[in-house]
This record gives sequence, structure tokens and C-alpha cells, in this order.
Amino acid sequence: MLPARRLLRSVFYGSRYDRVPWGQRVYVRPGERLLREAQWWWRVRRTPVISLDDYRSGRPLGEIEEFLSCMMCGEPRQQPMFEPEGGRESGKGWRYQVVRCPSCGFLYRNPNVRPERLGDLYSSGYSGFLSGTYAANRQRRYNLTMNAFSPVFDEGMGRRLLDFGSGVGLFLELAEQRGFDAYGVDLSPDSVAQANARLQRARAYFGAPEDVPEIAAGGFDVITLWSVLAHLPRPLHDFARFRELLAPGGVLLILTVNARSLLLKAYGPGWSGFTKNHLMFYNSETLRTLLRRTGFAGVAYAAHYGDTIEAGTSNLPDSLRRRLYRAVQASDGGNMMRALAFADEDAIARWGDHLTIHRLQERATAPDEPTDLDLTGSTGSGAAA
Ligand SMILES: [Zn+2]
Repeated sequence: MLPARRLLRSVFYGSRYDRVPWGQRVYVRPGERLLREAQWWWRVRRTPVISLDDYRSGRPLGEIEEFLSCMMCGEPRQQPMFEPEGGRESGKGWRYQVVRCPSCGFLYRNPNVRPERLGDLYSSGYSGFLSGTYAANRQRRYNLTMNAFSPVFDEGMGRRLLDFGSGVGLFLELAEQRGFDAYGVDLSPDSVAQANARLQRARAYFGAPEDVPEIAAGGFDVITLWSVLAHLPRPLHDFARFRELLAPGGVLLILTVNARSLLLKAYGPGWSGFTKNHLMFYNSETLRTLLRRTGFAGVAYAAHYGDTIEAGTSNLPDSLRRRLYRAVQASDGGNMMRALAFADEDAIARWGDHLTIHRLQERATAPDEPTDLDLTGSTGSGAAA
């Protein structure tokens, strides 16, 4: 950091915050939340809105890429926001453009990856990234998220579970330990092989769900998408299929990077959510659009405060920890987003207790979302498609 900036920072914040990890500082320094939100507002305001034709012209298009309109609302106009890049140290540099939909605020990569070429991103070498310390941290993250939506994952009791994008089987391993009848699918053949070497009863398969008879049969009580949503080039198609694969009373769990993250507002193109293979970036609102359009009845969120905070291994003093909680809640700005989507009214009645449910489909008797769970007389009367 430049000496002048360091001096400026110490005048503003003192050295108290130097020991706070980088990913937590923006949440705990006084006034920073409002500053970053104003900064974001200003960035959106001053970024021009242009037609898709103007956006296309002069922009190179890779062999596996295509230009898109907003998949959530159909808006063709584009707001070019960021050009994240990385990987230069490893000699495998990458760079892409992220646009914002001026109508609904959805953030997505444009040009995006053509769905039939998605496998190219995962054909080789991806499983190496998914082991080592990554593995321990991931399993901790899965456990924290399962706890946040207790009691859905407390005991599997032989329920059918599909982990979509199951990688090397780190979650399937936890799922079979908890007694789920667990299946996985993934686009990386070496990851699938590693998963099956790790698992006792659960099974991972290569390919799409419809290619695997055991999975195409559907009837799943739980489907999980761990850090997968941002990788899907056809989310509406995939979510409609997840909805069909779910049994009555079934739930879909989603963990993804949060496009309302205060860290994105602070660091822009340097945000940790802009990784090489991420294609689309959701917030709680655009995720609701996706779920509503694909027939889900409701959704609940669990704010993400950071894994070390939730696991109790952070050294953050209590006063700063409380400030972090408040900043995340006030801005809906945790760095990850965790959501539990309910297939139908039965699912809400069964698993929605203690959660704040956002209704997604019109019902004759229900007020507009968000609404607290009403257990009196509304069960089973849903108009969910
Ligand atoms: Zn849109």
C-alpha cells in the first residue's frame, strides 16, 4: 500500500483495524458500510446504459462464448460494470466482462459461455483445485450452512438427496454420514472418480441428470447446489428441472456468492466472487425471480457472517463482531448467500418453521411477500405450478 494511503487510513481508522482480516474490515470500520453503499450507488449511476447491439460491436467473442440479454427479466440493454481478471501468476490468465441489467440489477458475465461448451471449463485439472485445505474449509462451510437451516439436514433418515455439481464428493460424504440416500452429478470426470473412491454408499455420476437413470427418476427430498449456481449458463432451464426432480415436500439448498456483498461494493473488479469460471452473480432479489419463474413456492435466507465468525475461530473482539453482524444484516451484504427454496406448500409446512418465508407464487389467501409462516388453514391450498 502507498505510504500516503496508509497514513490516510490510520488517520481515519487508527491501527485497531490493521489486525482485522481483510475480508472483515469493511464490515467493522465505522461508517464504512454507508460509504461503500454510496460508492456503489454512484458507480451504477455513472455507468452508461447501452443497447445490446452497441455492446456487441467491437467486443471480441471467444469460440465457446455468446452474447446474452438479461436471463432474469429479458432486458437486452447492458451496463458494462467490471472487467475482472486473474491467473497471471500461474501463466493461465483470464479476463471477462461483467454487466448489470439496468431493469432488474442482475449481474452477469457478457459474453457468457455457451451451455454446450460448459464441459470445456471442467474437462481437466479442476479436481486438483478441490482438495487439500480447500476440502477441510469446505466441509466446515457445509456443516455451518446445514446448521443454519436445521432441522432439514439433521438426520437423513434414508431421504433421497441429489448434490448437483458434486465435485470430489466432499458434501456427499457428509450426507451419507448423516443417513441420506445420496447421489451426485458433475461435469468433471476426474472429480467423479475421486468422489466414488471416497464414498461408501453414496454414488457420483458424470454428466447431466437426465443421462443417469437413477437420477432422472426424480423423487428427491433434497437437492443441494454448493457453489454451483454462479456456474450455470441456463439457470431457468436447470431450475425448472430441479423443480421436477423434487418430490412433494422437497427443498433445494443454494449457496452462492452474494452480488450484494459489501466486499463487491468495496473492491469492484477485485472482488473474490469474480472467479475464473463464474458466469452469473445473484442477490436475494434476483434469486427470488429465478425461483418464482421456475415454480418454487417460497424461499428463506440465512445471512452469512463468514465461516471463521460462525465457527467461533475468529479473533475478532466482541464489539467488532456485533458491528459485523449489524453491517451484514443492514446491507443484506454478507459475502455469500445461503437460501433454502421450497418446492410447494407441503415443503413450507414441513421445514419452514422458525424461518422467514418469502412467498413466490400468488395464493388466494396469502398477502404479498415477505410474510411470516402462517400455519392456519393455508397448507396445501397453494397455487404453485
Ligand atoms: Zn434483468
